[in-house]
Amino acid sequence: MQGVILKGIGGFYTVETEDGRLHTCRARGRFRREGVRPLTGDRVDITTETDTAEGRIEAILPRDNEWKRPPAANLEQLVIVISAYWPKPDLLMCDNLLIEAGKRNVAAVVCVNKCDLARPEDVRALADEYAACGHSVVCTSAKTGEGLEALQSELTGVVSGFAGQSGVGKSSLLNALVPAFDLETGGRAARTDRGKHTTRHAELLRLPGGGRVVDTPGFSLLSIGDIPPGDLGGLYLEFAPYLSGCKHRACLHRSEPACAVKAAVDGGKISKGRYERYVIILDTLLESRRKRYD
Ligand code: GDP
Ligand code: ZN
Repeated sequence: MQGVILKGIGGFYTVETEDGRLHTCRARGRFRREGVRPLTGDRVDITTETDTAEGRIEAILPRDNEWKRPPAANLEQLVIVISAYWPKPDLLMCDNLLIEAGKRNVAAVVCVNKCDLARPEDVRALADEYAACGHSVVCTSAKTGEGLEALQSELTGVVSGFAGQSGVGKSSLLNALVPAFDLETGGRAARTDRGKHTTRHAELLRLPGGGRVVDTPGFSLLSIGDIPPGDLGGLYLEFAPYLSGCKHRACLHRSEPACAVKAAVDGGKISKGRYERYVIILDTLLESRRKRYD
């Protein structure tokens, strides 16, 4: 039977099979010997004992993608949360997360949270910048509930993870979407009988409104250092219409002459901020490459 790992604790994996039943499974010894660790989100083949909820994981199907922190596999969407107010939005981090998602073929949604605190024009400026890049954008307040329906509809039918800097409201949004859920927010334990979520395991939760989320807020950046500098521009959706217009075939859109991307920035077709951060990220990639080959 095929199923999905919802969580794994102490060598016991909860697997939901296609008929909706839950099975507590051990993994075959072979995985340990081969250094393979089943992950939350893994699609697996299991065998079960007759009429029990026990089972054994026989095989892990090929992963679409894999994340280290939290350990999870097969995300379909990354929700990148930024705050419209405080903490001041770290757009470089947001862009890096968009690159990380794009590199793994994972869809991205930008969620501008804390709309209740910010001036409407500031919310709109953030939302417009990312909508203009071709990403889905939702504006929310975990406090007033504004925009939660729009966020829920982005989550329906897919497996999502939440990412973004600390304090932007990821835990608060998850708590608002899953009422039975009780994640600590603001660094304080919401309930005293629960430990800090740093020690918790990633669990795949079903949202009452449809879709699934990994309950650990804060998918963090892996190193994007392995992206060839020449591929970076291809991960910017808003550059796509211009890439074929650059004179140099291997244009990095930095200081090359007759660069169609730079022309689009100058002409106001591509956000200046996004482009300036692109250059920062590009320089980081070039620098790490230089270090590696020196
Ligand atoms: P996380 O670190 O991203 O998980 O952020 P938290 O969910 O822990 O939120 C950090 C702080 O911001 C907490 O004190 C929340 O109560 C507060 N907060 C989160 N979302 C909102 C919001 O939309 N509006 C307001 N006013 N406060 C929020
Ligand atoms: Zn160019």
